[in-house]
Amino acid sequence: MALQGVAIRGQRSLLRQIREALASGGPAQARLDMVVRIIARSMVAEVCSLYMRRAAGDIELFATEGLDPEAVHVTRMKPGEGLVGEIMRLGRPLNLSDAPNHPAFSYRPETGEDPFHAFLGVPLLRGGRAIGVLVVQNRTERVYVDDEVEDLQIVAMVLAEMVAGGELISEGELKGVELAPHKPERLKGAKFADGLALGVAVLHEPPVAPSQLLADDVVAEEARLNTAIASLQAQIDEMLDGQHGLLADVSYEVLDTYRMFAHDRGWNRGLEDAVRNGLTAEAAVERVRSEHRARLGQARDPYLRERLHDFEDLADRLLRHLSGDAHSARELPENAILIARNLGPADLLEYDRTKLKGLLLEEGSSASHAAIVARALDIPCVGRLSGLRDRVSEGDAVIVDAETGEAYLRPRLDVVKAFKARLEVRLQRRAEFAKLRDTPAFTRDGAKITLLMNAGLDVDLDILAETGAEGIGLFRTEFQFMVAEEMPRFNAQTALYGRVMDAAGDMPVTFRTLDLGGDKILPYMEAEREENPALGWRAIRMGLDRPGLLRLQLRALIAASRGRSLRIMFPLVASVDEFRAARALVDHEVAWAQRRGRPAPSRLDVGAMIEAPALIWHLDALLPMTDFVSVGTNDLMQYLFAADRGNPRVADRYDFLSPPALRALEAIQRACAETGTPVSVCGEMAGRPLEAFVLVALGFDRLSMPPAGIGPVKQMVLSCDREAARRGVSALIKGSAGSIRNEIETLARKLYLAI
Ligand code: PEP
Ligand code: MG
Repeated sequence: MALQGVAIRGQRSLLRQIREALASGGPAQARLDMVVRIIARSMVAEVCSLYMRRAAGDIELFATEGLDPEAVHVTRMKPGEGLVGEIMRLGRPLNLSDAPNHPAFSYRPETGEDPFHAFLGVPLLRGGRAIGVLVVQNRTERVYVDDEVEDLQIVAMVLAEMVAGGELISEGELKGVELAPHKPERLKGAKFADGLALGVAVLHEPPVAPSQLLADDVVAEEARLNTAIASLQAQIDEMLDGQHGLLADVSYEVLDTYRMFAHDRGWNRGLEDAVRNGLTAEAAVERVRSEHRARLGQARDPYLRERLHDFEDLADRLLRHLSGDAHSARELPENAILIARNLGPADLLEYDRTKLKGLLLEEGSSASHAAIVARALDIPCVGRLSGLRDRVSEGDAVIVDAETGEAYLRPRLDVVKAFKARLEVRLQRRAEFAKLRDTPAFTRDGAKITLLMNAGLDVDLDILAETGAEGIGLFRTEFQFMVAEEMPRFNAQTALYGRVMDAAGDMPVTFRTLDLGGDKILPYMEAEREENPALGWRAIRMGLDRPGLLRLQLRALIAASRGRSLRIMFPLVASVDEFRAARALVDHEVAWAQRRGRPAPSRLDVGAMIEAPALIWHLDALLPMTDFVSVGTNDLMQYLFAADRGNPRVADRYDFLSPPALRALEAIQRACAETGTPVSVCGEMAGRPLEAFVLVALGFDRLSMPPAGIGPVKQMVLSCDREAARRGVSALIKGSAGSIRNEIETLARKLYLAI
């Protein structure tokens, strides 16, 4: 590999030559010409050209060695046009032995490039977006080797920062170059967590500052990198070793993927090579990260995309180890709006909650970890904002409009003004709801509706009293597992359940046992890949097949109750046999505790969630076995309509306010009323006033919802005449329309409902 040695030596001296050329002063264009000449010579290329993106979007030739100098500032391409446009669009290198034969090739006679066959172009990336393209060309048909591609990418990275730092292009010229988007923009995405927020953008992965790009002492930098990698690996090993013995039946290998990446030789070698080539360790992390993004980012396979997320996460961790604060949280400005491609389960909790006002995600789904945690923390969140990371820079003003599912970047003043007015109205409404906190929710005709809160994290407990909820109707125990970096042990589980019961005091809390699998994946527990995870091995199915984990949880719940009353509910029960088996595990654990002289719960209620449609036709068998049931409409509807709740294409395609959905709910309510089984609805629909109105009309009188829903739903209940609502809704659900939302809205207006 003599070639590689030459390349590395050449590379370092190349960067030094570029630095010296820039230090020599002189007019900007002359310096730029010198830089391309140095690169061409060093790479033994006949041509080296630099193209930059103009603010209007066009890509312009800024300097060249080897093409006709007359073409400089004359040759322009539209975005996406030609090979250079293609590189700009893809944000990754293009390496061709015979460029004119490539379908994207666009011939420019003024450049005189006819005789060049070999072509290597790499993007100048800044903050994840391409601001220019650096190209080398050779007359002969040849393919540039990997080391040459790597070299040119490093040079391009350094050039990008120099351009941005004003070192390479004159100030006047720089104005016309689009280094960062500056125009106001509105991006349409999907609403993940309701609310409005206005603030300044904070990038979850901040770009490396130009001053940190080139290392002064390569040997010392290599040592620094190796120390950081070793400490990262040790941290991850420690995190995983905590799992030994806890999941006796689960193959240890499946927990290990993440660790495997941290020890990945390719990843480590990539970092070392970049440092040996003269970059700082931080710059090396960014280099390798952008390469992974380019390789895996376009992958459509969800498994590969997940892997990219693992690498991104590792890169962030490594940067923290390099900066010496592997464990400390980042300092945030007031009113921070966090911008990220996607977030891992624990990421959001690492930020200062008092300053974090909103969250914008490029990817994700409303069932993703970040979205669930954002809702729990009441942080407005809009996701699936395509192109977000490329369109926003650190410090930009941004608006999170999670009422409509939009983001405004660098909004105009009039937009800010109108938005502030909406924010004010929202605050006023909140204040009104707060006033209703201690008013019990009776309908106008005297029916008591019990409003409960959905919870899952410690932070929820602080707001329980504020909301005026009469208890916790759904405590999602898997959240503790999802936000943890390692599997919570028995003591941690018992402690959390105890805190929840303490906070609730005399109010009831319904603990749902682990609802994992499907869209809820643990970072430290690699599940087997399934074709159809929503229909796969999840929730109670996993619990019954791996009773070790479920029994440990039941034991923790019983221990936490310390002789108080306890309510336990099982998720996604699809057959009465499953419920029977799960209930037997509870009885077994109670007997186990008693045998050891530990206090049994003073009262024990065991219930099932109704989420699998099959149960609707077996309620006569199920209800006598249960102490209560709760309808999980999020899942029930996805299975009724066969439409994945996490898939944006189909999630909103079918309306819950439609005859089939409401007839199913009515059947459940009737069967429960006939057998005297307490029933609640705990899906998200229970927290939306219009939907809650329909549930009340159908006869449900226990609704459990996200905290933000309680005020608006209570206001609706107080204005509702249940008997009139019942008559109206029961007529409408006999109809033949696919959705009866409009008709229900009309009915609500006719009844003067406060919605
Ligand atoms: C539901 O499915 O409606 C439910 C409440 O459970 P989750 O959203 O946690 O699946
Ligand atoms: Mg569910």
